[in-house]
Amino acid sequence: MLPRSPPPPSVIRRLLLLAVALGLFDLALLAWRLQLADPAHPWVLPQRVLSTLVTLALVVAVVLALRRLRQALEAAHAQTERERMLFDALPTGIVVWDADDRFVLCNADFRALYPALAPHLVPGLPFEQLLRHALRAGLVPEAAGGEQAWIEGRLAQHRQPQAPIVRRMADGRWRRIVEQRLPDGSMLSHSVDITELVGKEQALEAARQDAERARRTLVEAVEALPAGFELYDADDRLVMTNRLMREMYPLIADLADQRPSFEQVVRTHHARGGVAEPPEGFEAWLAGRRRTRATGLPPHTRRQPDGRWIRVHESRTSDGGVVGVRIDVTELEEQRLALERARADAEQARRTLVDAVEALPAGFELYDADDRLVMTNAMLRQMYPHIGDLWDRGLRFEDLVRANHERGGLGPLALPFEDWLAERQRERRSGGPPRVHQLADGRWVRTYERPLPHGGLVGVRIDVTELQRLNSELGRLSQTDALTGLANRRLFDQRLAEELARARRRGTPLALAIADVDHFKRYNDLHGHPAGDACLKQVAAVLRDTARRPSDLVARLGGEEFALLLPQDDAAAAAALAERCLAALDRAALPHGDSPVAPQVTVSIGVADLAALALAPPPAEGDASALLRAADRALYAAKQAGRHRVALAPRHPAPG
Ligand code: GH3
Ligand code: MG
Ligand code: MG
Repeated sequence: MLPRSPPPPSVIRRLLLLAVALGLFDLALLAWRLQLADPAHPWVLPQRVLSTLVTLALVVAVVLALRRLRQALEAAHAQTERERMLFDALPTGIVVWDADDRFVLCNADFRALYPALAPHLVPGLPFEQLLRHALRAGLVPEAAGGEQAWIEGRLAQHRQPQAPIVRRMADGRWRRIVEQRLPDGSMLSHSVDITELVGKEQALEAARQDAERARRTLVEAVEALPAGFELYDADDRLVMTNRLMREMYPLIADLADQRPSFEQVVRTHHARGGVAEPPEGFEAWLAGRRRTRATGLPPHTRRQPDGRWIRVHESRTSDGGVVGVRIDVTELEEQRLALERARADAEQARRTLVDAVEALPAGFELYDADDRLVMTNAMLRQMYPHIGDLWDRGLRFEDLVRANHERGGLGPLALPFEDWLAERQRERRSGGPPRVHQLADGRWVRTYERPLPHGGLVGVRIDVTELQRLNSELGRLSQTDALTGLANRRLFDQRLAEELARARRRGTPLALAIADVDHFKRYNDLHGHPAGDACLKQVAAVLRDTARRPSDLVARLGGEEFALLLPQDDAAAAAALAERCLAALDRAALPHGDSPVAPQVTVSIGVADLAALALAPPPAEGDASALLRAADRALYAAKQAGRHRVALAPRHPAPG
């Protein structure tokens, strides 16, 4: 509770004046009473009463004045106490020195600051003395070793205070001490706790250092970038580049420190010959570039006048600047171009290969390691028209063959389809000899198939229809007698062996007749060799026309000697046929000018059949020779008997 306010000094003064006035008046009354010596005087009583009243009033006035004075003193004391409390309650340390630098007073905060000094803080203590106490109490660690110098410095400062002192106290807190001379020469020193401020300042400094470190790290990182780096601020001025960027653009490396605008950079670079002349002209290009700079430039690769390729990335920063990254991609670009060239070459080679494959006079097919068809040519496709829609589907060989089979595109097969396909697959993989087969349209194809070293298979199909025709013609010719067109000796031997084997197997009859022109030497001699040839042709025709059954074979064995191989005939049937031949030749009446037998060309025929063979012991030379010899002997017999006749080899009873 605050003390009552003291009475104003004027009230006390008035009360004292009143007491003095009353005292004087009381003295006057006393004097007047002394004049009235007669106690019975009528004025004695009033005078006594008045005197008593005045005295009473005087006493009251004095008592009141004293009371007022006490109140005033009490109030003044309370005021002083209150001021001291306030003084002590101040959160700053305050100390007052007189003009002679002797201690006058201090507040509680100051005392609390230096508890070790508190006992010494008595009025009149010289400042220097206090400093020594402080040193002794170890309150000034920074003065260690140089105490005297410190005292002198501190005294000088104390005498003529200048800048405030900032000091760290023993308790670790910070104080700011301001010393101030007052007009009367005394000194007021006050210190403020600035620990929080210092803390904040230190935090700020730490943050500043962190920021600086971060900036330096950033700069180092940007320098270490494996790409050129440039940073423009919101005013489009160049504020940062890195080493690689300056190396990439040596012509304008000197601009880096001048904060040039982007436009200045580009213009200078152009003026110094570092910008390839754009087709639309530099100014038009620059105008376009200004626009892309505002809107953002999509990454692109640009060729420098020195031949290098630079990849440019440009993007806006959040604060309106522009960050550019440029990468020298010359090597990459050259590799890309080389790759493109290689690709073009490969494509060209592929096209050439395709052309070559298309130009092949054969069907071409290529299968991958998975046996899927990857390449064909027109000729192959034309060979298999039934699956014309399946070529480009990457189908496997087996799928193609099955489809072709289902659509009736396969030629005649020697085996049931599934067996044939299995055999065909084995054959493909073996890379064996070429196979010749017939297509559905009758053409013949020879197929060469080779597995490839790295998987896959290549096939070449050659149309051999013509070859096949020529072959069969050749075969036919090789079995034909050129003069007469009959079977020749080779075919005769072959057929004879076959028929003998069959007859033996089946137990069926088989006969052979050998016809020889009579006195043909004479014919030649008389009519000439060419006429002899013509005669032989006619004899051949007669024989062929007579032995007309499909199984009959008429052959020229050589010279003017013919054979008739007659399956199913025994000797009798064969002899009958031989007789018909003699008769037919007679009818043909080919004139022979020098034959002792007849005026026309005649033949003698010897006939033998399998039964004749039984005559002889089992033929060591084989059935064919034995049968021939038997027929030959019969022919000889016919000649001996006068020619122009048929003779049979002697028959032999069946064994058993
Ligand atoms: P024979 O009645 O005994 O058979 O008497 P031949 O004269 O027919 O028999 P020979 O074996 O003595 O004569 C066969 C003749 O046939 C000899 C040869 O001049 C003739 N000759 C053989 N081959 C041909 C031929 O291709 N053309 C011609 N013009 N004559 C041939
Ligand atoms: Mg002969
Ligand atoms: Mg003859």
